[in-house]
Amino acid sequence: MNNKTLAILKPDCIKKNLIGKVTAQIQDAGFKVLGMKMIRLTPDAAKGFYEVHNGKVFFDNLIEYMTSGPCVPIALERENAVEEFRKLIGATDPAKAEEGTIRKLYADSIQENIVHGSDSNENAAKEISHFFSRKELLEINGL
Ligand code: ADP
Ligand code: MG
Repeated sequence: MNNKTLAILKPDCIKKNLIGKVTAQIQDAGFKVLGMKMIRLTPDAAKGFYEVHNGKVFFDNLIEYMTSGPCVPIALERENAVEEFRKLIGATDPAKAEEGTIRKLYADSIQENIVHGSDSNENAAKEISHFFSRKELLEINGL
């Protein structure tokens, strides 16, 4: 599978009323939305999602931020989805992100950086299944 990735519009994106603008930029870049919902992460769910960062200095703040308000996970489809989506969002630190990328345009800091994108095909599959069951994705897309 190299045609799917998971985006999450993070709490700062929702607080700044940017759901529409960011989603439009994603769709304009050729991504098809397969699934989209608004959720509130519990601390345990946020810790599970970011388990790879457990123990890092920014971990506790990251969990606090990700649970501070609603998030919008979006399952996306496009050729070479993981890599193309990472290009579209830009570097983790918006100060280092390329002009025109979503993080460069809208993010305030390395922590509050508007959007998540999966970093490998393997993680994309795992992360999509965190928020959307296979059955649910098939059903909502009419298959
Ligand atoms: P990315 O989201 O670009 O894949 P990482 O997986 O390295 O970045 O980190 C996950 C999230 O943790 C980042 O998007 C950001 O919200 C937060 N983060 C990463 N590095 C830092 C840092 N040095 N200081 C504060 N928050 C950070
Ligand atoms: Mg990452």
